[in-house]
Amino acid sequence: MPSSNAINGHLLNRAVLVLNANYSPMMICTARRAICLDYLRKVEVLVNYDEQVHSPSLSLHLPSVIKIRDYIRFDNLSVDLNRKNVIARDNHICQYCGVSKTALTIDHIIPKGKGGLDTWENLVAACKPCNQRKGDKTIDESNMLLNRLPKRPNRLMYFQKYVKDQQQNWRPYLFMEPFTIN
Ligand SMILES: [Zn+2]
Repeated sequence: MPSSNAINGHLLNRAVLVLNANYSPMMICTARRAICLDYLRKVEVLVNYDEQVHSPSLSLHLPSVIKIRDYIRFDNLSVDLNRKNVIARDNHICQYCGVSKTALTIDHIIPKGKGGLDTWENLVAACKPCNQRKGDKTIDESNMLLNRLPKRPNRLMYFQKYVKDQQQNWRPYLFMEPFTIN
């Protein structure tokens, strides 16, 4: 049987959605951090998880969505263009053959030698064999097909990937469904 500390520790690492003062999604933090920010009166808790965390002296609701009290200037929708984020956008799947759970490289759809740029629209995750097969050829020349056209992601997509069974309450805040007024 796990100790209550182990259970608390597990719960305190639960993901919490952090909104800016204007309700735009900003980041994900741990419940531990969220409880701390709430204690310092920096945030308002909008939604709790069903679970509580316990210490010898008190029980606390586990926060799930929090909102910062003072607006922070923050370009919340841009995602840095780098290898890690291209692979995350492509769900860790080779965009040519669909293989996953393998080391992925970044392929330029229009090769650099043919004027292809480092842009979200020109970079995709590719397994090593596909990348080698494509080489310096364009899609047409290589006779290969892309699973889907790559697009510039935004942070919203990244947050939406976090939503599992326990995060259903996040959906309205991530524009995945309208707010219902009770
Ligand atoms: Zn592949």
